[in-house]
Amino acid sequence: MFHHKKTIAEGDLVLAYIGRDNLKPIFVKNGDVLQTKYGNFPHTDMIGKPFGSQVTSAKNVGFIYLLLPTPELWTVSLPHRTQIVYTPDSSYIVQRMNVVGGSRVIEAGTGSGSFTHAFSRTVGPAGRVFSYEFHEQRYIQAKKEFESHKLENVTLTHRDVCNEGFDIDTEVNAQMVFLDLPSPWEAIPHLSRAIAKDQTVGICCFSPCIEQVVKAVEALQECGWTAIEMTEVQAKKWEARKEMVRELDDAIERLRDVKRRQKEGAELKKLPPKRDADGNEKDRGYNPFGKGKRIAEGDESFQWQNVSKTGPELKTHTSYLLFARQVPVLGAGV
Ligand code: SAM
Repeated sequence: MFHHKKTIAEGDLVLAYIGRDNLKPIFVKNGDVLQTKYGNFPHTDMIGKPFGSQVTSAKNVGFIYLLLPTPELWTVSLPHRTQIVYTPDSSYIVQRMNVVGGSRVIEAGTGSGSFTHAFSRTVGPAGRVFSYEFHEQRYIQAKKEFESHKLENVTLTHRDVCNEGFDIDTEVNAQMVFLDLPSPWEAIPHLSRAIAKDQTVGICCFSPCIEQVVKAVEALQECGWTAIEMTEVQAKKWEARKEMVRELDDAIERLRDVKRRQKEGAELKKLPPKRDADGNEKDRGYNPFGKGKRIAEGDESFQWQNVSKTGPELKTHTSYLLFARQVPVLGAGV
């Protein structure tokens, strides 16, 4: 995953775009068939096609797109085992915490691995993601998934971080911490042993309730974290478009037109139906309740004004994002 690839080969993970809210991850295997409501798609037909291609079903009834996996697409197609962090939050957290190629990051809990994929791509081969999950089945599932997606920079540990902390065999030395746990205040005191001592470390706690935020703030203050701030990401789609300017006369003319066309339709209905050579009733050619002619947005024969409109809310697990920093103590021997 995340290595750019032009063409699809056997064994590749492909995200089959079946519809706007329907992306299905598949591992391409000769002989397998992807079954969808738009028809069956033999994997054999996918091999050798460029990523991004449209393929038609075996009986030419429908089509899908074959997409190259990215963390953003994985987030909207992954099998949910828990609530997950969506891209509007993860992208904000990554840039605000200055996570870059080479960064060392702690993440707890792993959950469905949505954010792990985004972290893994951002920190790249020179960085490392230390992810912790205490639920055994979720840990096993995530381990399998990370291996099959070749997330080689992720160290996944089966651990209750609230009781056992973050220490593992290798040095963690994290520059950024992300906690998506029901009780982050219990994990915060364990962090001091696992974070970098010679540079500023950032933390983000992701909590749906304000009571959790209050408890986490207290724990952060007690453990020497500063610059504590809370943010909530309310992502919305914003659409800019043109709307036709209509005067009163236009509205009256439109009503007259509707009436006129209703009358024409009623007259047509009185006539005996026309039939084709096989005796089937022919289309009357006019629908009195139809909508009239479509006008392309911006058609120069009409007057337009620019308007804006917000779309429906984007999919996101709305939580409060609590940020803080730990600055190294001068003269602490580093
Ligand atoms: N951020 C994840 C994602 O984007 O897919 C979702 C995390 S999910 C909301 C929270 C996870 O934390 C659950 O899988 C839960 O089992 C795990 N968890 C809860 N308490 C924990 C603890 N003390 N130690 C480790 N994992 C814990």
